[in-house]
Amino acid sequence: MLPYMVDFQKLRDKIMDKGYNKVLLQLPDGLITYARDIVKELSDFDVFLSAEPCYGACDIVVHEDKLTVQFGHSEIPNIRYPENVIFVEMFSDKKFDAVVEKFIEKYRCDSVGIVASVQHVNHVNEVKALFEKRGITALIGNGDSRVKYPGQVLGCNFSAAREVDMDVDCFVLLGTGVFHGVGVRITTGKKTYVLDPFSNTVTDVEVEADRIMRQRFGAIALTEQAERFGIIISDKIGQKRERLAMTLKSMIESAGFEAYLIYANRVVPESFYYDVDAYVNTACPRITYDDYLRFRKPVISPVELQIALKYRLWENYSFDEIVNVD
Ligand code: SF4
Repeated sequence: MLPYMVDFQKLRDKIMDKGYNKVLLQLPDGLITYARDIVKELSDFDVFLSAEPCYGACDIVVHEDKLTVQFGHSEIPNIRYPENVIFVEMFSDKKFDAVVEKFIEKYRCDSVGIVASVQHVNHVNEVKALFEKRGITALIGNGDSRVKYPGQVLGCNFSAAREVDMDVDCFVLLGTGVFHGVGVRITTGKKTYVLDPFSNTVTDVEVEADRIMRQRFGAIALTEQAERFGIIISDKIGQKRERLAMTLKSMIESAGFEAYLIYANRVVPESFYYDVDAYVNTACPRITYDDYLRFRKPVISPVELQIALKYRLWENYSFDEIVNVD
Protein backbone atom coordinates (compact mmCIF):
# COMPACT_ATOMS: atom_id res chain seq x y z
CA MET A 1 0.00 0.00 0.00
CA LEU A 2 1.37 3.41 -1.05
CA PRO A 3 2.57 5.59 1.84
CA TYR A 4 1.28 8.75 0.13
CA MET A 5 -2.19 9.82 -0.98
CA VAL A 6 -2.91 9.41 -4.69
CA ASP A 7 -6.28 9.98 -6.36
CA PHE A 8 -6.10 7.21 -8.95
CA GLN A 9 -9.55 7.93 -10.37
CA LYS A 10 -8.43 11.48 -11.14
CA LEU A 11 -5.26 10.11 -12.69
CA ARG A 12 -7.18 7.65 -14.90
CA ASP A 13 -9.44 10.49 -16.05
CA LYS A 14 -6.44 12.65 -16.86
CA ILE A 15 -4.81 9.89 -18.91
CA MET A 16 -8.10 9.37 -20.80
CA ASP A 17 -8.37 13.13 -21.44
CA LYS A 18 -4.89 13.15 -22.88
CA GLY A 19 -6.03 10.39 -25.29
CA TYR A 20 -3.29 7.82 -24.68
CA ASN A 21 -3.69 4.05 -24.29
CA LYS A 22 -0.05 3.48 -23.51
CA VAL A 23 1.48 4.81 -20.32
CA LEU A 24 5.18 4.96 -19.43
CA LEU A 25 5.60 5.02 -15.66
CA GLN A 26 8.57 6.75 -14.05
CA LEU A 27 8.98 6.01 -10.36
CA PRO A 28 11.64 7.32 -7.98
CA ASP A 29 13.63 4.62 -6.13
CA GLY A 30 11.49 4.86 -3.02
CA LEU A 31 8.35 3.93 -4.96
CA ILE A 32 9.67 1.03 -7.02
CA THR A 33 8.46 -1.47 -4.41
CA TYR A 34 4.93 -0.17 -5.07
CA ALA A 35 5.20 -0.54 -8.86
CA ARG A 36 2.84 -3.53 -9.01
CA ASP A 37 0.17 -1.73 -6.97
CA ILE A 38 0.38 1.30 -9.25
CA VAL A 39 0.27 -0.79 -12.43
CA LYS A 40 -2.84 -2.60 -11.11
CA GLU A 41 -4.54 0.74 -10.47
CA LEU A 42 -3.91 1.65 -14.11
CA SER A 43 -5.05 -1.67 -15.58
CA ASP A 44 -7.33 0.12 -18.08
CA PHE A 45 -4.15 1.08 -19.97
CA ASP A 46 -1.06 -0.63 -21.39
CA VAL A 47 1.49 0.27 -18.74
CA PHE A 48 5.25 0.18 -19.26
CA LEU A 49 7.66 0.66 -16.37
CA SER A 50 10.76 2.74 -17.02
CA ALA A 51 13.81 1.19 -15.36
CA GLU A 52 15.83 4.36 -15.90
CA PRO A 53 16.64 6.14 -12.62
CA CYS A 54 14.26 8.99 -11.83
CA TYR A 55 15.72 11.48 -9.38
CA GLY A 56 13.60 14.53 -10.10
CA ALA A 57 11.25 16.37 -12.42
CA CYS A 58 14.39 17.45 -14.28
CA ASP A 59 14.71 13.92 -15.59
CA ILE A 60 11.99 12.59 -17.87
CA VAL A 61 11.86 9.73 -20.33
CA VAL A 62 9.68 10.33 -23.38
CA HIS A 63 8.31 7.89 -25.97
CA GLU A 64 6.33 9.54 -28.73
CA ASP A 65 3.44 7.04 -28.61
CA LYS A 66 3.03 6.98 -24.82
CA LEU A 67 2.02 9.28 -22.01
CA THR A 68 4.85 9.57 -19.50
CA VAL A 69 3.51 9.62 -15.94
CA GLN A 70 6.14 10.56 -13.39
CA PHE A 71 5.29 9.91 -9.74
CA GLY A 72 6.56 11.67 -6.64
CA HIS A 73 7.78 14.99 -8.06
CA SER A 74 6.21 18.35 -8.93
CA GLU A 75 6.90 19.79 -12.33
CA ILE A 76 9.58 22.46 -12.47
CA PRO A 77 7.65 25.57 -13.59
CA ASN A 78 10.30 27.09 -15.83
CA ILE A 79 10.84 23.93 -17.90
CA ARG A 80 8.89 23.46 -21.13
CA TYR A 81 7.95 19.80 -21.01
CA PRO A 82 6.64 17.87 -24.01
CA GLU A 83 2.84 17.55 -24.18
CA ASN A 84 2.90 13.84 -23.35
CA VAL A 85 4.28 14.19 -19.82
CA ILE A 86 2.29 14.51 -16.60
CA PHE A 87 3.29 14.45 -12.94
CA VAL A 88 1.59 12.79 -10.00
CA GLU A 89 2.49 14.71 -6.88
CA MET A 90 2.59 12.75 -3.65
CA PHE A 91 2.18 14.58 -0.38
CA SER A 92 2.60 13.13 3.07
CA ASP A 93 -0.23 13.49 5.58
CA LYS A 94 2.15 13.06 8.53
CA LYS A 95 1.74 15.92 11.03
CA PHE A 96 4.64 17.93 12.48
CA ASP A 97 3.18 18.95 15.88
CA ALA A 98 5.32 16.60 17.98
CA VAL A 99 8.60 17.24 16.19
CA VAL A 100 8.10 21.02 16.19
CA GLU A 101 7.49 20.84 19.95
CA LYS A 102 10.68 18.83 20.36
CA PHE A 103 12.62 21.43 18.37
CA ILE A 104 11.28 24.35 20.43
CA GLU A 105 12.16 22.59 23.69
CA LYS A 106 15.74 21.89 22.63
CA TYR A 107 16.87 24.82 20.45
CA ARG A 108 16.78 28.58 20.85
CA CYS A 109 15.78 30.31 17.65
CA ASP A 110 13.68 33.51 17.84
CA SER A 111 12.85 33.64 14.17
CA VAL A 112 12.75 30.65 11.90
CA GLY A 113 12.66 30.14 8.14
CA ILE A 114 10.56 27.17 7.05
CA VAL A 115 11.50 25.13 3.99
CA ALA A 116 10.42 21.66 2.87
CA SER A 117 11.08 18.90 0.42
CA VAL A 118 8.16 18.47 -1.95
CA GLN A 119 6.53 15.54 -0.10
CA HIS A 120 6.05 17.75 2.96
CA VAL A 121 5.54 21.15 1.38
CA ASN A 122 1.80 20.91 2.06
CA HIS A 123 2.62 21.37 5.78
CA VAL A 124 4.60 24.64 5.72
CA ASN A 125 1.68 26.88 6.71
CA GLU A 126 0.55 24.62 9.51
CA VAL A 127 4.14 24.52 10.88
CA LYS A 128 4.32 28.33 10.60
CA ALA A 129 1.18 28.55 12.75
CA LEU A 130 2.69 26.17 15.34
CA PHE A 131 5.76 28.39 15.72
CA GLU A 132 3.73 31.59 15.84
CA LYS A 133 1.51 30.14 18.56
CA ARG A 134 4.68 29.83 20.64
CA GLY A 135 5.74 33.44 19.94
CA ILE A 136 8.39 32.55 17.36
CA THR A 137 8.46 34.50 14.11
CA ALA A 138 8.23 32.13 11.14
CA LEU A 139 8.84 33.06 7.50
CA ILE A 140 8.32 31.17 4.26
CA GLY A 141 10.01 32.31 1.04
CA ASN A 142 8.27 31.87 -2.31
CA GLY A 143 11.36 30.74 -4.19
CA ASP A 144 12.19 31.40 -7.83
CA SER A 145 10.72 29.98 -11.03
CA ARG A 146 12.37 26.57 -10.55
CA VAL A 147 10.10 25.70 -7.62
CA LYS A 148 6.34 25.32 -7.66
CA TYR A 149 5.39 25.85 -4.01
CA PRO A 150 6.29 28.44 -1.34
CA GLY A 151 8.94 26.99 0.95
CA GLN A 152 9.87 24.23 -1.48
CA VAL A 153 13.56 23.40 -1.89
CA LEU A 154 15.19 21.05 -4.38
CA GLY A 155 18.65 19.52 -4.11
CA CYS A 156 19.65 22.10 -6.74
CA ASN A 157 17.62 25.12 -5.65
CA PHE A 158 17.43 26.85 -2.28
CA SER A 159 15.91 30.12 -3.48
CA ALA A 160 13.02 29.87 -0.99
CA ALA A 161 15.59 29.89 1.83
CA ARG A 162 17.76 32.62 0.30
CA GLU A 163 14.71 34.87 0.03
CA VAL A 164 14.25 35.07 3.81
CA ASP A 165 17.71 34.32 5.18
CA MET A 166 18.45 37.91 6.22
CA ASP A 167 15.36 37.95 8.43
CA VAL A 168 15.66 34.66 10.32
CA ASP A 169 18.00 33.21 12.94
CA CYS A 170 17.81 29.63 11.71
CA PHE A 171 16.00 27.30 9.30
CA VAL A 172 13.92 24.19 9.80
CA LEU A 173 13.55 21.81 6.90
CA LEU A 174 10.47 19.58 6.82
CA GLY A 175 11.58 16.27 5.39
CA THR A 176 13.81 13.26 5.74
CA GLY A 177 17.55 12.89 5.05
CA VAL A 178 20.06 15.69 5.48
CA PHE A 179 21.12 16.68 1.96
CA HIS A 180 18.55 19.45 1.45
CA GLY A 181 19.28 20.75 4.96
CA VAL A 182 23.01 20.85 4.25
CA GLY A 183 22.27 22.80 1.06
CA VAL A 184 20.24 25.34 3.03
CA ARG A 185 22.99 25.59 5.68
CA ILE A 186 25.79 26.20 3.16
CA THR A 187 23.71 28.51 0.95
CA THR A 188 22.41 30.75 3.73
CA GLY A 189 25.10 30.39 6.40
CA LYS A 190 22.33 29.91 8.97
CA LYS A 191 21.97 27.01 11.41
CA THR A 192 19.62 24.44 9.89
CA TYR A 193 17.66 21.58 11.44
CA VAL A 194 15.80 18.76 9.72
CA LEU A 195 12.43 17.95 11.28
CA ASP A 196 11.50 14.39 10.34
CA PRO A 197 7.87 13.64 11.19
CA PHE A 198 8.21 9.86 10.64
CA SER A 199 11.03 9.28 13.14
CA ASN A 200 10.03 12.33 15.22
CA THR A 201 13.65 13.49 15.22
CA VAL A 202 15.37 16.85 14.95
CA THR A 203 18.77 16.75 13.22
CA ASP A 204 21.28 19.58 13.31
CA VAL A 205 23.02 19.32 9.91
CA GLU A 206 26.22 21.02 11.12
CA VAL A 207 28.42 17.91 11.23
CA GLU A 208 27.43 16.81 7.74
CA ALA A 209 27.78 20.35 6.37
CA ASP A 210 31.32 20.54 7.83
CA ARG A 211 32.21 17.19 6.31
CA ILE A 212 31.01 18.26 2.87
CA MET A 213 32.78 21.61 3.07
CA ARG A 214 36.06 19.92 4.03
CA GLN A 215 35.66 17.59 1.08
CA ARG A 216 34.89 20.48 -1.26
CA PHE A 217 37.94 22.47 -0.22
CA GLY A 218 40.03 19.31 -0.72
CA ALA A 219 38.59 18.95 -4.23
CA ILE A 220 39.35 22.60 -5.06
CA ALA A 221 42.91 22.26 -3.75
CA LEU A 222 43.48 19.18 -5.94
CA THR A 223 42.02 20.96 -8.97
CA GLU A 224 44.39 23.89 -8.57
CA GLN A 225 47.05 21.59 -10.05
CA ALA A 226 44.88 20.56 -13.03
CA GLU A 227 45.78 21.49 -16.61
CA ARG A 228 43.17 19.48 -18.55
CA PHE A 229 39.49 19.70 -17.67
CA GLY A 230 36.43 17.72 -18.76
CA ILE A 231 33.22 19.75 -18.52
CA ILE A 232 30.21 17.52 -17.97
CA ILE A 233 26.89 18.55 -19.54
CA SER A 234 23.67 16.64 -19.01
CA ASP A 235 21.19 16.19 -21.84
CA LYS A 236 18.31 15.73 -19.37
CA ILE A 237 15.66 18.38 -19.95
CA GLY A 238 15.94 19.96 -16.51
CA GLN A 239 19.69 19.74 -16.01
CA LYS A 240 21.11 20.93 -19.31
CA ARG A 241 23.42 23.93 -18.83
CA GLU A 242 25.30 23.98 -22.12
CA ARG A 243 25.69 27.76 -22.17
CA LEU A 244 27.26 27.69 -18.72
CA ALA A 245 29.56 24.89 -19.88
CA MET A 246 30.68 27.00 -22.87
CA THR A 247 31.42 29.93 -20.56
CA LEU A 248 33.47 27.68 -18.30
CA LYS A 249 35.39 26.36 -21.29
CA SER A 250 36.36 29.92 -22.29
CA MET A 251 37.34 30.67 -18.71
CA ILE A 252 39.61 27.60 -18.54
CA GLU A 253 41.19 28.37 -21.90
CA SER A 254 41.77 32.02 -20.95
CA ALA A 255 43.67 30.74 -17.93
CA GLY A 256 45.93 28.81 -20.31
CA PHE A 257 44.51 25.29 -19.81
CA GLU A 258 42.67 22.72 -21.94
CA ALA A 259 38.93 22.05 -21.69
CA TYR A 260 36.73 19.38 -23.30
CA LEU A 261 32.93 19.38 -23.37
CA ILE A 262 31.38 16.01 -22.52
CA TYR A 263 27.67 15.28 -22.94
CA ALA A 264 26.10 12.52 -20.86
CA ASN A 265 22.62 11.34 -19.97
CA ARG A 266 23.61 9.33 -16.93
CA VAL A 267 26.63 10.84 -15.21
CA VAL A 268 28.16 7.71 -13.71
CA PRO A 269 31.84 7.09 -12.87
CA GLU A 270 32.03 4.13 -15.31
CA SER A 271 31.61 6.54 -18.23
CA PHE A 272 34.35 8.94 -17.19
CA TYR A 273 37.76 7.56 -18.05
CA TYR A 274 38.91 10.55 -20.08
CA ASP A 275 42.51 11.69 -20.03
CA VAL A 276 41.83 14.83 -18.01
CA ASP A 277 42.93 15.96 -14.55
CA ALA A 278 39.53 17.06 -13.23
CA TYR A 279 35.87 17.32 -14.18
CA VAL A 280 33.59 20.33 -13.83
CA ASN A 281 30.01 19.19 -13.40
CA THR A 282 27.20 21.30 -14.86
CA ALA A 283 24.64 18.44 -14.58
CA CYS A 284 22.72 17.70 -11.36
CA PRO A 285 24.68 19.37 -8.51
CA ARG A 286 24.09 16.34 -6.27
CA ILE A 287 26.54 14.37 -8.41
CA THR A 288 29.32 16.73 -7.33
CA TYR A 289 28.49 16.43 -3.64
CA ASP A 290 27.04 12.93 -3.23
CA ASP A 291 29.07 10.92 -5.75
CA TYR A 292 32.41 12.71 -5.41
CA LEU A 293 34.32 9.77 -3.98
CA ARG A 294 33.12 7.39 -6.69
CA PHE A 295 34.97 9.21 -9.47
CA ARG A 296 38.65 8.59 -10.23
CA LYS A 297 39.36 12.29 -10.75
CA PRO A 298 38.21 15.31 -8.73
CA VAL A 299 34.74 16.55 -9.67
CA ILE A 300 34.02 20.19 -8.92
CA SER A 301 31.13 22.60 -9.41
CA PRO A 302 31.21 25.72 -11.64
CA VAL A 303 31.69 27.96 -8.59
CA GLU A 304 34.51 25.75 -7.35
CA LEU A 305 36.21 26.05 -10.75
CA GLN A 306 36.17 29.83 -10.39
CA ILE A 307 37.88 29.47 -7.02
CA ALA A 308 40.45 26.99 -8.36
CA LEU A 309 41.29 29.39 -11.22
CA LYS A 310 41.45 32.33 -8.78
CA TYR A 311 38.52 34.17 -10.34
CA ARG A 312 36.65 34.01 -7.02
CA LEU A 313 37.76 34.12 -3.40
CA TRP A 314 37.39 31.09 -1.13
CA GLU A 315 35.31 33.25 1.25
CA ASN A 316 32.74 33.64 -1.52
CA TYR A 317 32.12 29.92 -1.84
CA SER A 318 28.53 29.02 -2.65
CA PHE A 319 26.61 25.80 -3.23
CA ASP A 320 25.86 24.97 -6.86
CA GLU A 321 22.24 25.80 -7.71
CA ILE A 322 20.26 25.58 -10.93
CA VAL A 323 17.93 28.45 -11.70
CA ASN A 324 17.46 28.18 -15.46
CA VAL A 325 18.35 25.53 -17.98
CA ASP A 326 19.05 25.94 -21.71
S1 SF4 B 1 18.92 18.55 -10.94
FE1 SF4 B 1 19.31 17.05 -9.31
S2 SF4 B 1 18.75 18.09 -7.43
FE2 SF4 B 1 17.82 19.25 -9.11
S3 SF4 B 1 15.74 18.41 -9.34
FE3 SF4 B 1 17.10 17.27 -10.70
S4 SF4 B 1 17.73 15.45 -9.54
FE4 SF4 B 1 16.94 16.97 -8.07
